[in-house]
Amino acid sequence: MHPPDGLGSWPARRARIDAARPALIGPGGARSYGELADRVERLAGVLAAAGVGKGDRVAQLGVNAVEVLETFFAVWRLGAIAVPLNHRLAGPEIRYMLGDVGATFLVSSPDAAALAAEFTGPRLEVGPAYEEALAGADGARHPVGLDDPALVLYTSGTTGRPKGAVLTHGNLTWNTVNQLAHVDVASTDRALCIAPLFHCVGIGQITLPTLFKGGSVEPVAKVDPAAILARIGEAGITGFSAVPTMLQMLCDHPGFGAADLTSLRVVQYGGSPVPARVAAAWQSRGVTLQQGYGMTEASPGVLMATREGSTAHPVSVGVPHFFTDVAMVRDGEVGPVDAGPAELLVRGPNVFAGYWGQPDDTLDGWFRTGDVLTVAPDGWATVVDRVKDMFISGGENVYPAEVEAVLLAVDGVVGAAVVGVPDERWGETGVGFVQPAEGVDLDPDALREHLTAHLARYKVPRRIVITGELPRNATGKLRRTELRATAEGLT
Ligand code: ATP
Ligand code: MG
Repeated sequence: MHPPDGLGSWPARRARIDAARPALIGPGGARSYGELADRVERLAGVLAAAGVGKGDRVAQLGVNAVEVLETFFAVWRLGAIAVPLNHRLAGPEIRYMLGDVGATFLVSSPDAAALAAEFTGPRLEVGPAYEEALAGADGARHPVGLDDPALVLYTSGTTGRPKGAVLTHGNLTWNTVNQLAHVDVASTDRALCIAPLFHCVGIGQITLPTLFKGGSVEPVAKVDPAAILARIGEAGITGFSAVPTMLQMLCDHPGFGAADLTSLRVVQYGGSPVPARVAAAWQSRGVTLQQGYGMTEASPGVLMATREGSTAHPVSVGVPHFFTDVAMVRDGEVGPVDAGPAELLVRGPNVFAGYWGQPDDTLDGWFRTGDVLTVAPDGWATVVDRVKDMFISGGENVYPAEVEAVLLAVDGVVGAAVVGVPDERWGETGVGFVQPAEGVDLDPDALREHLTAHLARYKVPRRIVITGELPRNATGKLRRTELRATAEGLT
């Protein structure tokens, strides 16, 4: 059997089917698959002439744009490795990643000019110089296999320093196949990519599957709720992929109720839970949110809810992807999944090749997710919390996510975070941070009373602090380390 080649060939392969179909939509209009294939080939030529070869790491910095995707494909055409970095990080964090991965070339956009200056090697800036280089370039390509690395994608850094997950062409191809088995993507689709393209949700959940099917993708540079809501109706957007904070921003926008959402068919999210009121707000506009559970290390899909099943299983993250298997670990032993909460293990062709320069977290060939889940007899799973966020109060396990969900269901609460802090009497105890909606007054004692009515007493935080905007990272996840330090500093 002759193996299929890498992801870099996708635009040219789609162009063989229908070169005129729009592939990428940018501020300047649509680029067809034929144009994309041609530009990818020539950009690969530009990079090759600048010395980029097989296995080299090409870093990328900038907001979502068609050039980010073009660069991915060109880098992949050469068998080089794309390393899209989070442009919202600080200089020293970017410097660490550039050094950690040993980047030899950088493609950046003008919005990230200050961060790009952290890189001392050769670089190309999107804009006139990029277009000029492309115009005069010959094509280039190298043979690429499915086991060759395609991306080093840094994890969100929620539990510590971000880790560079090495994803191969095969990992991302299989994740695409998994997505298509589970999600209703069509060649006539027009998808918005709202989630950042330096994160696995932006790349794996909608962008690659849509381009594989021959649909078009419009990268969104800035999360401006009014503009996104208007764009959905105006362009007949069929689907998008986002992280929960973005879904919340969109449904909290005053224009949400009147926005034309009739074209939306597939709205996926993952990365953290969506508060029940957010899912209900979208449902009230006729849009069923499809929840996915995954992680950078799995390219990212592990579990996914079907659209039909989402209504009957509102908090569930669904069932395993087609070619992906899950198990659980109890007392250090690998066993089948079941309804008792335990750490989930995952394996499959979409699961990564290891971290860049770091040991993997595996057990008998299974990747340890670090997440506690429960799986109902019908196979639908629910995320309980991260192993690392759980704390033990008076000998009982407390999962902050459960307490947060109760707080988030209170009228006027738009953000909630619970962390465990050391306590002389109980070993650990919870401290809750609650962010009220604008202009709303919340009483910490009333919130504690509400929690006591809904949860066992040991789960109720000893103290609740009313606060402004909660600290979150680029994918909207709570920065718990920061909150834990604040909680420990309270007297
Ligand atoms: P780090 O590994 O650096 O600590 P991270 O785990 O947040 O950061 P990602 O790979 O972006 O980095 O996120 C994967 C994690 O996000 C999962 O392990 C899980 O904890 C969480 N997650 C993903 N999907 C969901 C979901 N639908 N509901 C709740 N949590 C989710
Ligand atoms: Mg992680």
